Amino acid sequence: MTYAPPIAEQRFVLDTIADLPALARLPGFEAATPDLVEAILNEAGKLASGVFAPLNWPGDQAGAVLADGVVTLPTGFADAYKLYIDGGWASLGSHPAHGGQGLPFVLASAVQEQLTSANMAFSLCMMLSQGAIEALQAHASPELQATYLTKLISGEWTGTMNLTEPQAGSDVGALRTRAEPHADGSYRIDGTKIYITWGEHDVADNIVHLVLARLPDAPPGTKGISLFLCPKVLPDGSRNDVKCIGIEHKLGIHASPTCTMRFGEHGGCVGYLVGDEGAGMRAMFTMMNHARINVGLQGVAIAERAYQGALAYARDRVQSARFGGGRDAVRIIEHADVRRMLMTMKATTEAIRALAYLNAAAVDRAHAGHDAAAAGLADLLTPVTKAYATDMGVELSSLAVQVFGGMGYVEETGAAQHLRDARIAPIYEGTNGIQALDLVGRKLGQDGGAHWRALFADIRQEVRDLPPKGDLGQLAPYLDDALAALENATVWMTGNGGDKLPDTAAGATPYLRMFGITVGGWLLVRQAVAATEQLAAGTGDAAFLRAKIVTARFFAEQILPQATAMLGPVTRGAELFYAIPEDGLAA
Ligand SMILES: Cc1cc2nc3c(=O)[nH]c(=O)nc-3n(C[C@H](O)[C@H](O)[C@H](O)COP(=O)(O)OP(=O)(O)OC[C@H]3O[C@@H](n4cnc5c(N)ncnc54)[C@H](O)[C@@H]3O)c2cc1C
Repeated sequence: MTYAPPIAEQRFVLDTIADLPALARLPGFEAATPDLVEAILNEAGKLASGVFAPLNWPGDQAGAVLADGVVTLPTGFADAYKLYIDGGWASLGSHPAHGGQGLPFVLASAVQEQLTSANMAFSLCMMLSQGAIEALQAHASPELQATYLTKLISGEWTGTMNLTEPQAGSDVGALRTRAEPHADGSYRIDGTKIYITWGEHDVADNIVHLVLARLPDAPPGTKGISLFLCPKVLPDGSRNDVKCIGIEHKLGIHASPTCTMRFGEHGGCVGYLVGDEGAGMRAMFTMMNHARINVGLQGVAIAERAYQGALAYARDRVQSARFGGGRDAVRIIEHADVRRMLMTMKATTEAIRALAYLNAAAVDRAHAGHDAAAAGLADLLTPVTKAYATDMGVELSSLAVQVFGGMGYVEETGAAQHLRDARIAPIYEGTNGIQALDLVGRKLGQDGGAHWRALFADIRQEVRDLPPKGDLGQLAPYLDDALAALENATVWMTGNGGDKLPDTAAGATPYLRMFGITVGGWLLVRQAVAATEQLAAGTGDAAFLRAKIVTARFFAEQILPQATAMLGPVTRGAELFYAIPEDGLAA
């Protein structure tokens, strides 16, 4: 299946939602001129569609293979990786001090979206490296930065993130990997990590593992965790005592090696402390916050690719029998139910793209503009982007399979691969259940609730500013209702202290869904307003702009009411969840 990068759509969202022109006025981002943005999206789009996408299906079929401690990627991956680094794509968003191009994270995210649509399994290699770069830029000593950052940023080396152990998944504080101080100032790491993405491979000469471990006298829980850098190849060229002892057979992303990593089998795994002792979780969160937005983007990317496939199939497949009789030969795209599926995919994909780009641009504003309000918005939105967008990635790629009918369930069309690939995104990088708890337990309460209040006030104002009539006027009541329900739910959520905490936890996941739908609907309204202005000014592609207005209306009428209806489920509490005793559930 081919992939066509949605460049016009990406440009529109970058301009209207991320406000890239304003970002480009911030110190350090001056290079992000409209011409450069256009060129980057076009050239990255060629790499994605021409090089990465053709490897997606064969990569899924062949998968990564482990033999004698060596992991081999499917044919073509190493050459494609070389094209990626030769083109300078690895360095887009990184700091110029170590060879990065210093462009906004949101622009790098748009490129990452294209690569992920083209080949999600492959794009994980770049995503994990990016996370390692972020952590080292923020927390590593100048010496470690000098040795490792330049080569990570150029893409010559790749990076990994090692948290998970068999007994420590969501509960990272339960990890047991140990770090012993060594006389030369380094540490010796001993432990086994599981599920490590791109933990071993043959596309780069060195792999920089960031590993969470405990010092001998560390307190239990997350406070006792420190972060270490363990390279596969040490600075003197010798191999470090770290190896891949297994790779997983799994539902999707077959070309992404998911490795069991043994650190220190022979007692000689050299690690270097990143940041302070005991501050590992803080450093890891730097990495995870970017990674969570990027994982959200995986939902966007897979939904986009699945939509493109489903649309092409629906325009071609003829099934005549019509509702209400008649035997004319019609393509399935003419059936209302198929249109419903396609419009749901299109509208929701555009909503989650806007959410992810808004989130990434808020990170840029927070960093480059030292903007505290933007930092608060970025923090608030990150669990929503991660969880809502990845849930939609699964639901929309499942809908794509439905559009294909039986041809979607069999493997040869590629629709099934998108669904299989999409399924991991709600699980890793903090499960979506954990994201929901993060939203209600930490993010809503930050700075006394200032960030959700500011966001809801912005939405309320934009609803008020909509003209009373016409297409835009029709959007207002839907968004108004969803926002009112979300506000009520938020007040309920934040008022539940003490013994009501189980009720908050019980409502967290549907609450996050409400939040995602409402913010997504608002961002489509904002795009419809911009489209209306451009149409009035006679600028832009009229067909694209008119579709924006229709898409916002479709989302408002068909999807926003789901948020309104969720107020009940969100605030019902935990009672019925526990009313049947555990043994009764098994009866
Ligand atoms: C393909 C793949 C790639 C991965 N890549 C990496 C990687 O590169 N690096 C890395 O370190 N890890 C990686 N992981 C691990 C991944 O991050 C974990 O699987 C994930 O964090 C969940 O942990 P778990 O599997 O132990 O599930 P568990 O933590 O056992 O969770 C099981 C279920 O219980 C729920 N649950 C658990 N605790 C709570 C709670 N407190 N409250 C409410 N619900 C809860 C979860 O939401 C989930 O639904 C990867 C996993 C896979 C499958």
